[in-house]
Amino acid sequence: MHASKYHINTLKEAPAEAEVKSHQLMTRAGMIRKAAGGIYTYMPLGLKVLRKIEGIVREEMNRAGAIELLMPVVQPAELWMESGRWEQYGAELLRIKDRHQRDFVLQPTSEEVITDIARNEIHSWRQLPLNFYHIQTKFRDERRPRFGLMRGREFTMKDAYSFDRDEASAQASYDAMFQAYMRIFERLGLEFRAVAADTGSIGGSRSHEFQVIADTGEDLVVYNPASQYAANIELAEAPCLIAERAAPAQALTKTATPDAPKCELVAEQLGLPLARTVKSIVLATDDPEGKQQARIWLLLLRGDHELNEVKTGKLPGFENGYRFATEAEILETFGCVPGYLGPVDTAKPVSVIADLTVAHMSDFVCGANEEGYHYTGVNWGRDLPEPAKADLRNVVSGDPDPQGGVLAIQRGIEVGHVFFLGDKYSKALNATFLETDGKPAVLQMGCYGIGISRIAAAAIEQNHDDKGIIWPRAIAPFEAVICPMNLHKSETVRNVAEKLYQELQASGVDVMLDDRDIRPGIMFADWELIGAPLRITIGDRGLKDGIVEIQTRRQAAADKIPVEQALEFSL
Ligand code: ATP
Ligand code: MG
Ligand code: MG
Ligand code: MG
Repeated sequence: MHASKYHINTLKEAPAEAEVKSHQLMTRAGMIRKAAGGIYTYMPLGLKVLRKIEGIVREEMNRAGAIELLMPVVQPAELWMESGRWEQYGAELLRIKDRHQRDFVLQPTSEEVITDIARNEIHSWRQLPLNFYHIQTKFRDERRPRFGLMRGREFTMKDAYSFDRDEASAQASYDAMFQAYMRIFERLGLEFRAVAADTGSIGGSRSHEFQVIADTGEDLVVYNPASQYAANIELAEAPCLIAERAAPAQALTKTATPDAPKCELVAEQLGLPLARTVKSIVLATDDPEGKQQARIWLLLLRGDHELNEVKTGKLPGFENGYRFATEAEILETFGCVPGYLGPVDTAKPVSVIADLTVAHMSDFVCGANEEGYHYTGVNWGRDLPEPAKADLRNVVSGDPDPQGGVLAIQRGIEVGHVFFLGDKYSKALNATFLETDGKPAVLQMGCYGIGISRIAAAAIEQNHDDKGIIWPRAIAPFEAVICPMNLHKSETVRNVAEKLYQELQASGVDVMLDDRDIRPGIMFADWELIGAPLRITIGDRGLKDGIVEIQTRRQAAADKIPVEQALEFSL
C-alpha cells in the first residue's frame, strides 16, 4: 500500500466525550468515526485491525473443529418468546417492528436462532458433536455506551455454539473451546487471564471469562498468585442500590438476585442509579468454619475511599487487596455495613478468605447508604454445590495465616466468555435428537463469545504511550511502514524504498510505503499515533553510508542497519 493512494486522516484532538485511551486514540488515528452514541464506522485503518483479529479467531475456531455459518442480525421475536428471553432480557434488547407490525429483535447474541437451526438439522446421535460459529454484527442497547469500541451498542462478536449428546461430551467441547481461546489470546499478543465467571443473562452453570489486563478495565479480577485460581467480579453490571440505613434488610432483600439484568430492572423500578466505578474491595466472611449458612461479604468501596487510602489510613492491616475487620470497624470507618442476607452478629470477627470461587455465589445483593458508599453482599449459604462447601472450609479465621496465599486484584477488560449451557435453550425450544436406542434426547449446549471489536480497544488500553498506539504485530493495521525522506526529490531514496517495499510484500509483510509529500516530523507522528510496530526510515544521508534506520514502536532510538540487511531485519 502507498499512503498517497490510501486514506489517512489523523486528528490533533480527541472528542471531549472520549474518556478512555482507546476511544481517544482510535478516533485521533482515524480508525473509527462516530455515527451515533455507541455506533461507529470502522474506517479503513480500523477495519484492517478488526479483519486481522477475525483472521486469528477464525483460524483457531476452524482448527478446534468449529464450523462457520452466518446467522441474521434481525431475528423473529417468536424464537425469543420460546426461550423466554423476550421477557427476561430487559432494555438492552433492541426490539423493532416491521411494516406488518410483527416483532423482531436486533440480535445481541444468537442462542435462539442456532437452537432453531439445530432442532431442524440435527436428527441423530451420528451427527454429533457439532459446533457452529459466526462472526457477525451484534446490537445491545447499552445503558452508557461511552467507551468507543470498548462498549459499543453496535459491535462485532464471534459467537460459537456447541451441540453434544451428553454432559461429558459437552464438557469436552467446552474444554476444546477454552483451549482455543487460550491460543487465540496468546496469538493476539495480549496479556490476559482466564477467570471463573458469573453466567449473567445467558444462564447455565459453568463459565469462564478471558480478561485483558488493563488499569482502565471495568471488571475486577481476583486471583491467587500462588495457584491457578482466578475469578471475575462483575462490577460493570453490579447495581448498587441506595438502601435506607434504617431498613437495610428490606432494601437488600428486594435486590437479592444473581442476575444482573434483573438487578437493572429492580434499579429502574426503584428509580435508583447504578454505580459503575467501584474502586476497592474487601472480601469477608463472619463464619471462619464455613458452615452451611455462612455469609460471605464483598464490600465494595467507591468514591474517595480508594484502596491506598484504606491501606495507609483508616484500616491498618490492609494488604494485597484484602484485610481483616470487624463489622463494627467497617461501619465506623465507611459509614455502612457490608451487604448481607439475614441478621449479622456484630460481635463476631469478620475474616477474609484466601480462596473463593465467585462462580459459586448463589445470590448477590448490592446497596449503598446515603453518603454513596456502595456495598455488595454475597450469600453462599443456600444450595451450595459440594466444591463450594469445600472452599468455605478453607476460610481463615481470627488473626490468621492464610494458607494457600492471598488474593490479589487486577483490573480487566472482558474480551471473551465461554459458557456451559446444558439444556437451557435446547429444552425450551425442544431441540432433540435420536439416541442409539432410538429414543429422543435433549441436546447439550455450550456457547462461546469473543468481542472482536472490543479486542481492538482492549489491545490499545494495554499498549499505548504519549505518542499513540503500540499494536502487537499480529493485529497492527500495517506491520511495517517505510518512511522515505524527500522521496519526491531523491531518485535514490525512491528506488531503495520501492525495492524494499516490493521485497517486504513478497515476503508476506503487510507494509505501507508513506510516499506523501509531507514533513518527516508529521509523518513520524502519524505512524506513532497509528501504532505501526516497525518503522524503516530511508534517507540520502544514511544511504551515503549504506544504511537505513529501523526502529520498533517501543524503541526510543533507531538501529542503523546496512541496506542489504534491511529486509531480513524487518521480517
Ligand atoms: P460486559 O460484561 O462487558 O457487558 P457481557 O458479559 O455482557 O459483557 P457477553 O454476553 O459475555 O458480554 O458477550 C461476549 C463478548 O462480547 C464479551 O466477552 C465482550 O468481549 C463482547 N461484548 C459484550 N458487550 C459488548 C459491547 N457492548 N461492546 C463491545 N463488545 C462487547
Ligand atoms: Mg460480562
Ligand atoms: Mg453486557
Ligand atoms: Mg460475558
